[in-house]
Amino acid sequence: MKLFDVYPINDITITKAQGSSVWDDKGTKYLDLYGGHAVISIGHTHPHYVERLNTQLSQVGFYSNSIRIPIQQELAEKLGKVSGKESYQLFLCNSGAEANENALKLASFYNNRKKIIAFKKSFHGRTSLAVAVTDNPKIIAPVNQTDNVIFLPFNDESSLDAIFRAQGDQIAAVIIEGIQGVGGINVASETFLQKIRKNCDQYNSVFIADSVQCGYGRSGKFFSQDYSGVNADIYTMAKGMGNGFPVAGIIIAPHIKPVPLMLGTTFGGNHLACAAALAVLEVIESENLLENARKMGDYLQTGLAKIPLLKNIRGRGLMIGFDLPEELKDLRKNLLFKHHIFTGEAKPAVIRLLPSLALSKNDADIFLAAINEEIESMVSTPNQVN
Ligand code: PLP
Repeated sequence: MKLFDVYPINDITITKAQGSSVWDDKGTKYLDLYGGHAVISIGHTHPHYVERLNTQLSQVGFYSNSIRIPIQQELAEKLGKVSGKESYQLFLCNSGAEANENALKLASFYNNRKKIIAFKKSFHGRTSLAVAVTDNPKIIAPVNQTDNVIFLPFNDESSLDAIFRAQGDQIAAVIIEGIQGVGGINVASETFLQKIRKNCDQYNSVFIADSVQCGYGRSGKFFSQDYSGVNADIYTMAKGMGNGFPVAGIIIAPHIKPVPLMLGTTFGGNHLACAAALAVLEVIESENLLENARKMGDYLQTGLAKIPLLKNIRGRGLMIGFDLPEELKDLRKNLLFKHHIFTGEAKPAVIRLLPSLALSKNDADIFLAAINEEIESMVSTPNQVN
């Protein structure tokens, strides 16, 4: 049997990983500033994480949500404490799309409405509602097309106010990434998030903060929306939550009440997933990784700002993007194959940095030296085939 060929891949096979480094099958070491797409939050194969998962696996790996699973409550308490959202309620699932799917359904159950406001350049996942609120027609199948989604320009306060004035009593939810990831690292402004809060309060709509990529400490605060000083009604989480173990969830404000079986899942919240998520929170806390993300993020942005050819350096914490001019369009490929550094991208010409929140200054310096060297070489020999 062949694999269903949907991924454009790099010809690299990773066989070992530790901290911010990975090694291929030939023993070459790479610096990982991509984190397997923002997933590696506390560093590859962190010893506490490995030990907690091993211990849990040797006790009980899985049982369904038909019995008591005390480690779920343990996770909820820890998450409440570390995120500062102690009054919220946790529902666990398995992926970012599923988290958003559940958040949108829950909003619609809550106020019995159908319309959803989403934003240009958004990405919320590939399941039916999550993809319907994603601004990319190429991945929306005919069966997912709906008139229930209204796309507005990102950070445009007047169009948001206008749509609420016109249709506020029909709006089930507003869904927004605190920092758009796939869309190219676009930070939602504090006043825009405050405006969403105000309109949702006025019209009893649900504010959903998609924190799948920008959450779990990546921005230097637990949720990037926290910079605005207002709370969302539902936060969705995945990626960094399990440091590679598939675990996701939504946290739900207290005014939204559960009804038996309105949401459900077979795998969500299983023992191993909870152990992974707890290990991540324990390390975030004990190693002060939110502060490290802020500090190293500022350090990287300051270093990148000294490179004149890099445009529009932006982001928060360890979620950073910058635009590449035409003459540097091969920079990402050259960093990977010549300097052995993984970075992320966004179309058409953005480099995205999504490293472990435990990134060291030494690793940041290795990256800054390599990118400076590579840009110098590309500019001095523009037609060189790399
Ligand atoms: N939401 C955001 C902001 C994302 O970046 C992603 C994935 O990149 C998703 C949702 C979907 O997550 P998953 O691929 O786990 O379904």
